[in-house]
This record gives sequence, C-alpha cells and structure tokens, in this order.
Amino acid sequence: MSTVTTEALQNARIAVLGYGSQGRSHVLNLRDSGLDVVVGLRAGGPTAAKATADGFEVVSPEEAVKGADLVAVLTPDMVQPTLYTDVIAPNIKPGAALLFAHGFNVHFKTIVPRADIDVILVAPKGPGHLVRTEYEIGRGVPCLYAVFQDVSGSAVDKAKAYAAGLGGARALLIETDFKEETETDLFGEQAVLCGGASELVLKGFETLVEAGYRPEIAYYEVLHELKLIVDLLYQGGITKMLTYISETAQYGDYVSGPRIVDAATKERMKAVLTDIQDGTFAKNWTAEYKAGLPNYTKWKQADLDHPIEKVGAELRKKMTWLNEA
Ligand code: NAD
Ligand code: MG
Repeated sequence: MSTVTTEALQNARIAVLGYGSQGRSHVLNLRDSGLDVVVGLRAGGPTAAKATADGFEVVSPEEAVKGADLVAVLTPDMVQPTLYTDVIAPNIKPGAALLFAHGFNVHFKTIVPRADIDVILVAPKGPGHLVRTEYEIGRGVPCLYAVFQDVSGSAVDKAKAYAAGLGGARALLIETDFKEETETDLFGEQAVLCGGASELVLKGFETLVEAGYRPEIAYYEVLHELKLIVDLLYQGGITKMLTYISETAQYGDYVSGPRIVDAATKERMKAVLTDIQDGTFAKNWTAEYKAGLPNYTKWKQADLDHPIEKVGAELRKKMTWLNEA
C-alpha cells in the first residue's frame, strides 16, 4: 500500500471535462476522496443530465476551465484537439495543470499545450466502471502517471494526488512518460486486448460452427470460458492458470497454442507496433474520424451482426446473474 495522498490537491478546484466511461468514475471518486470537483459539459449534451442526477454542479466547459487549478480532459481523444483550441487554451489559468488519461494527443502533437501550464497524465489501467467499483469496495485500479511539462514545480505531486483521489494509490502507481503510455496502450488494445482477443474468439467460434457444432456450445467454449481463464491469469499469471487447468488442457496448450499464434503472428505484431510508433495509426485514425467514420461504422456493424452476438444475447438472457454486473 502506497502512502501517496491527495494533499497536493487539497485546496485545488478540479474541472473534469467529459462524463463518460472515465469521466464519471473520476468525478465520483474524487468527490468521495474529499476533493473539490466541477463538471464541464455542453448544455443538453448526452451526459449532462446524468451528472446533474449524480448531484454535481454542471457548468459549461469554458466556465469550468476558467476557475480551475486542474483541468482533466476526459472527452473522446478525437474531440480533444478542438476542445483544447476553442475552450481550454483561451481560458486555463497560468500555472494550472492540464491532465489527460491517455497521452495520445500530446504525444502525437495534435495538441501543443501552452508553455505556462503543467501537463500531466494519470491513466488508470482499467475501464471506467472498474475505477469506480474498485474504489467503492475500498480498493483501486493501478494507475500510470507522467509529467510532460512542469511549470509549477509540483506537477508530479499533482499527478500523484489525482491518482490517489481515484483510489489508484491503494493499488499501485507507476511512473511513465507520455510516449511509453501512449504507444504501449495502443499496442495492448490493438494486438492483445480488444483486437487480438476478440478476433481469436470469432475465428474459434466460426471454426466450430462451420464444422457442424452447435453455436450454443461453441459460445461457451470460446467466449464464456475465456473469462474464467483470464481471471486466473489476472490473479496469478500463467503459473496459476497452469495450476488450475487439467493435464490434458496443458498438453493441448503446449502443442496447439504455438500453431495458432506463431512467429509470423509476432512479426505482424511488430508491424502493428511500428505503425503506432511512426504515427501511421494516429494519422489514419484522425483521417477516418474527420471523414465521418465510414469504415469504423461498417466494421462495428459487422461485429454487432456476427452470429456469435445473436446466440450470445440469447444465452446471456438465461444467465440472469450476468445482468447484475
Ligand atoms: P467516453 O466516450 O466514454 O466519454 C466522453 C465524454 O465526453 C462524454 O461525457 C461526452 O458527452 C463528452 N464529450 C464529447 N464531446 C465533447 C465536447 N466537444 N465537449 C465536452 N464534452 C464532450 O470517453 P472515455 O472512454 O471515458 O475516454 C476519455 C479519455 O479517457 C480518453 O482520453 C481515453 O483514451 C481515456 N481512457 C479511457 C479508458 C476507458 O476505459 N474507456 C481507459 C483509459 C483511458
Ligand atoms: Mg488502454
């Protein structure tokens, strides 16, 4: 347990812009940690009503930024550059801190922050709802923190205090820099977590169903049970997983795992990493966003229309305990 506290932000006014996955959890945790938080949202925006219902003072993003000693930018990455230029840069106080939960825009220079403010990062290593639920049970989600620019001389203390306010200091705080956080975060979600894992599930499901097995059975084998395996990995690494699975499963793991994910897969992972490092991914994603998300929309729909989603929805309805999460 770390001894980092919220001390450095005790007398600070914190403005949080955005009330989505991360924003809402941050605001609730910071308030419960005794800090002074205001939520900056567009009037009539999709989440303003939610913030008001949660008992927060909601003001316009401009107003929130004006009075703040720390501004946390928790809007989607692709709207941050315009938000910075139109709202933050003209209004943020000299010496105040600008905080991000992901280094994307600062690292790829789609935001070039004013020279008279602190620029810091606190990135919880988990989705927003977990940042809140872990806090509520007295624990926290580990957080990465970093300093890009320090004009006040206390940028690192502010970052650590914010992470403590989120509950992250109850778990683990790890120092990094904007480059490392941005590149590893993008790689992780693309190659392993979101991209890699979901493609592995879909291809496994298709293989079984095309071979004539029932979709219900295939769903349990390649999707539902994945959580049980991931829980073991999460608690105790590969060692714990190997301890809990059968000898037969272990032998199958050793002989078949490397046939599925092999040296060629690793070469393609390196290519994905290169695209991230040299800015190709950022350039393509920004262009896709500016074009109105034509491919993103099409690809997302294809995922939503996949047969595993149909059978999954039916099965999950019967597993009523899942709906409580
Ligand atoms: P989100 O899409 O869940 O929520 C975005 C919020 O911003 C919403 O409240 C939306 O109404 C608001 N918003 C959108 N446009 C706006 C504008 N122009 N002005 C003011 N508010 C606006 O976003 P998220 O997933 O919480 O991501 C926020 C940041 O956190 C990103 O930098 C992301 O990379 C980072 N992050 C997210 C996760 C995660 O689990 N989702 C994990 C770590 C870091
Ligand atoms: Mg991530």
